[in-house]
Amino acid sequence: MTEGVGKARILIVDDMPQNIRLLHDTLRDDYRTFFATNGEEALRTAAEVSPDLVLLDIMMPEMDGYEVFRRMKEDPLLKDIPVIFLTAMEQEEHETTGLQMGAVDYLTKPFNPSLITLRVKNQIELKVQRDMLAELANLDGLTGVKNRRAFDEYLRREWLRAVRYRHPVSLLMIDIDNFKCFNDHYGHVAGDDCLKTVAITMVKTIERPSDLLARYGGEEFACLLPETASDGALRVAHRMRENIVSLNIPHAYSDVSDVVTVSIGVATAFPCREMPPELLIKTADDQLYDAKRTGRNRVLGTEVGLPQ
Ligand code: GH3
Ligand code: MG
Ligand code: MG
Repeated sequence: MTEGVGKARILIVDDMPQNIRLLHDTLRDDYRTFFATNGEEALRTAAEVSPDLVLLDIMMPEMDGYEVFRRMKEDPLLKDIPVIFLTAMEQEEHETTGLQMGAVDYLTKPFNPSLITLRVKNQIELKVQRDMLAELANLDGLTGVKNRRAFDEYLRREWLRAVRYRHPVSLLMIDIDNFKCFNDHYGHVAGDDCLKTVAITMVKTIERPSDLLARYGGEEFACLLPETASDGALRVAHRMRENIVSLNIPHAYSDVSDVVTVSIGVATAFPCREMPPELLIKTADDQLYDAKRTGRNRVLGTEVGLPQ
């Protein structure tokens, strides 16, 4: 399941309302259910709600279940969602085809509610385990915030989403000022403690569940703010800088302050298909570099233009 607690989400796709009703009645107590009665609607809804499982009818007019499945596999945002095919009893060959294509299971009509419950439960349990392992692999060992790998993956996803829905995306690159001196004078253990405290403070500063803070490397952090324009991003950045100053961690060897401070570069883009996400990173990095060059302990930001 994606971030947060709550029931797993299941998308039910079938052109026959009575089938949807039966599946809904069987699953409604344990899951959040969503519905689609044709292929186009299924793809649209799947992109919107990121279900944990899709129950997909094979026989549908216009776009059949196989085609929906193929399109899901081609879409980076949908390709990892497990699919159970719904097949009619007299068409057993569909089961083989579906499983060969990569479906995780199949259910045969007429539906048997207790079998549905069990097979769906199996797949949801596997999905939850997969998500938990993925979550662990996404954490930075020292600070407990997300790691670089998780950041890269999230940026790719959110970039695609922003292109699709025409949303702005903002990125903060945050770097501790004169941190080498801090380590040299207070020692590496104190340095590590400082990194942890700064990371936790930044996580507390971000507000939306969709905001992601990651350790980008060493004493540098990246914070991705989906659906956020430059004024909002700058507000978050200023708040972060102030909150870190307020920690009052002594830094007698800093040339900008007597406490630990950070410099932050902010970039905002309205992504389009031709624009690579690396441009956002590069722009925020350049702003960070300028913030360092012009005195540190400050926030600088800009908007990303289209490449010429
Ligand atoms: P600037 O203000 O320009 O960013 O200067 P700086 O000294 O912070 O930057 P520089 O990149 O020269 O040094 C980064 C230092 O951060 C190097 C290393 O001592 C420290 N550092 C990086 N990763 C870790 C870590 O995991 N633990 C600790 N304790 N220190 C780290
Ligand atoms: Mg630094
Ligand atoms: Mg650095």
